[in-house]
Amino acid sequence: MNSLNQPIVYLKGVGDKKSEVLNTELDIFTINDLLNHYPYRYIDKSKFYRIEELHSHTNIYVQCKGKIISKQILGENKSKRLVCELTDNTGTISLVWFNNIKYFQTMIEIDKVYIVFGKPTLFNLQINMSHPEITLAEKSNIWNQIPFMPMYNSTDKCKKNGLDSRGIEKLCKTAIDNYINEIQETLPDYIREKLQLIDKQSAIKQIHFPNNAEEIKQATRRLKFEEIFFMQIFLLQIYNHNSKNRGYLIPKVGNLFNTFYHYHLPFPLTNAQKRVIKEIRGDFLTGKQMNRLLQGDVGSGKTITALLIMLLAIDNGFQCCLMAPTEILAQQHYNTIQKLLADMPIEVRLLTGSTKVSARKELLPHIAQGNVHILIGTHALCEDTVVFKKLGLAIIDEQHRFGVEQRAKLWKKSLIPPHVLVMTATPIPRTLAMTVYGDLDLSVIDELPVGRKPIKTIHFYKKDSIKINQFIRAEIAKGRQILVVYPLIEESEKLTLSNLIDGYEEFKQTFPEPTYHVSFVHGKMSAEEKDTEMLKFKQGEVHILLATTVIEVGIDVPNASVMVVVNAERFGLSQLHQLRGRVGRGGEQSYCVLITDYQLSNDARKRIEAMVNINNGFELADVDLRLRGPGDLSGTQQSGILHFKLLNIIEDERIIVTARELAKNILHDDPNLAQPQNALLNTQIEQLKTYKKNYYQIG
Ligand code: ADP
Ligand code: MG
Repeated sequence: MNSLNQPIVYLKGVGDKKSEVLNTELDIFTINDLLNHYPYRYIDKSKFYRIEELHSHTNIYVQCKGKIISKQILGENKSKRLVCELTDNTGTISLVWFNNIKYFQTMIEIDKVYIVFGKPTLFNLQINMSHPEITLAEKSNIWNQIPFMPMYNSTDKCKKNGLDSRGIEKLCKTAIDNYINEIQETLPDYIREKLQLIDKQSAIKQIHFPNNAEEIKQATRRLKFEEIFFMQIFLLQIYNHNSKNRGYLIPKVGNLFNTFYHYHLPFPLTNAQKRVIKEIRGDFLTGKQMNRLLQGDVGSGKTITALLIMLLAIDNGFQCCLMAPTEILAQQHYNTIQKLLADMPIEVRLLTGSTKVSARKELLPHIAQGNVHILIGTHALCEDTVVFKKLGLAIIDEQHRFGVEQRAKLWKKSLIPPHVLVMTATPIPRTLAMTVYGDLDLSVIDELPVGRKPIKTIHFYKKDSIKINQFIRAEIAKGRQILVVYPLIEESEKLTLSNLIDGYEEFKQTFPEPTYHVSFVHGKMSAEEKDTEMLKFKQGEVHILLATTVIEVGIDVPNASVMVVVNAERFGLSQLHQLRGRVGRGGEQSYCVLITDYQLSNDARKRIEAMVNINNGFELADVDLRLRGPGDLSGTQQSGILHFKLLNIIEDERIIVTARELAKNILHDDPNLAQPQNALLNTQIEQLKTYKKNYYQIG
């Protein structure tokens, strides 16, 4: 066994207790795991911040030098603390200790110059640093031993067991001193030479203990490349494998498609919609299975595009299914598509979790006999009892809520895997798409139907309720309808509801019957109740509809021209954008009104600003990624696909593109990585496969 794979307890300085904490808190089980626990940043110990600079450097670690001008003990009991003021020529900050007060009180001397190191925070407009490291300036030569001090992620429990950042640093030092020579190279020489990447041993050593900034840069570049490169090879191999899958030929453009296209299409298609249909038609002619992602901003018209593609498949004797993430959305697809196909000989049916047993019993044989042409539903479609006669095309709407496993399940419903189209309204920046959906082809509807006026987004504070109500009143007077969305309060469903009901009472008072009709829908209502209310709204009987986020995805009411989001600060950017997309579908000027508390966190303020200034979903997605980091993207996180230690999906676009291109070239020449120069690669990929098997359909 490679000694790097030894349990971490074998490392000098790690006893049973520390070993356990490393296991449970940091997922570090082996010496190798520890070496792969990279610092998340470095402190440049040669730099001193001026105190006046600290206002713009809160919450990061900094080092300052100054004179202590006062020290006193404040507060009682729990809030008892030692407060010392430190000053340089540019300002003064308070250093605060809640623990070991006695020690620091004796140790710190007034009028002496100290070097302090810690995280400044802003409190009551005053800069504080709590529990800084502090050393007399005259002794600081010890302090500066390493030019760049690595900072490691750690947890409270770690810290209690001597594994704060410094504790981990010590262990890493021991590990590197003793095991560095055991680390194996993972990249073939020819790749390292080509891209001028440093070797693995140096990279690991430098990422922990760099001697200068250049070493950090080189180590990071090498390790980042490795993170994305293997992933790309892996995804491309799946892609190549899948594109060898035999797929149904769907050659003919038949009667159904033509009739619908020429006589029933309610509006001309946009060029983007036409292009996408063409791309997919291309896939249908290859005899290979299609695996395609269709991206299109909210309101770009994915549904009708999907329908036309389904008609092509039905024309060629196939059945289709359309899977939506929620009951209400499946229902809506069903209604829309039924209505569009009203005069055509096509059997459209709905199957969801709430389909009654008796109805299900009636339905299933029809599916199995091939009488149902389009089956619409939720993940209920994946159940084993749902058997098709000849499923040719599976369309998945709003895929980010489905796991890739579900995609795979649908595949198995047919002798030859059906063509798969995944539709998403979450615009994904290019780099991200390349990374997460590297196994899919990509189509984009990058154009909204003509005549849409850009939605105006307005930000109000709660206290502006008079202005808000004036605005709503004016819109209703113009014949428009208003949607009001309340956030889901995760801690408590009860709170969510009572929020909504309180709002309902308020609205009813402000907008009294009989002039105004106010109603609401929420997740606790039965599907029928929801439908009744939605229908009333669609038909214009209700002026103001309050809802929890159940209406977030997909709901389509062209006459609704105002979307009011209450506590908008509680929503994520992409969710806000989705909500905004619910209006602006008619030809009228539409509005999105974001209501927030007066006090906003920095990030919340940035989100609201972005919403007010940016209408384009792709641009917003970029901002979103920047604000949140990719790990947070719904769906992608749980799948672990985006779990990179160093790589930053946005900033490292160049590395990602380089890695993808190189991976393509290598696989082009050596698809199975069988050539000797690629032996190292093959080993790495095999390891990756065992990790990720569950997330991908691997043949
Ligand atoms: P999404 O892409 O968000 O799923 P939908 O498919 O729900 O969008 O379409 C949004 C609205 O735009 C629907 O009311 C639909 O009928 C309408 N629509 C779709 N395509 C066009 C088009 N080419 N011209 C005009 N309206 C369109
Ligand atoms: Mg949709």
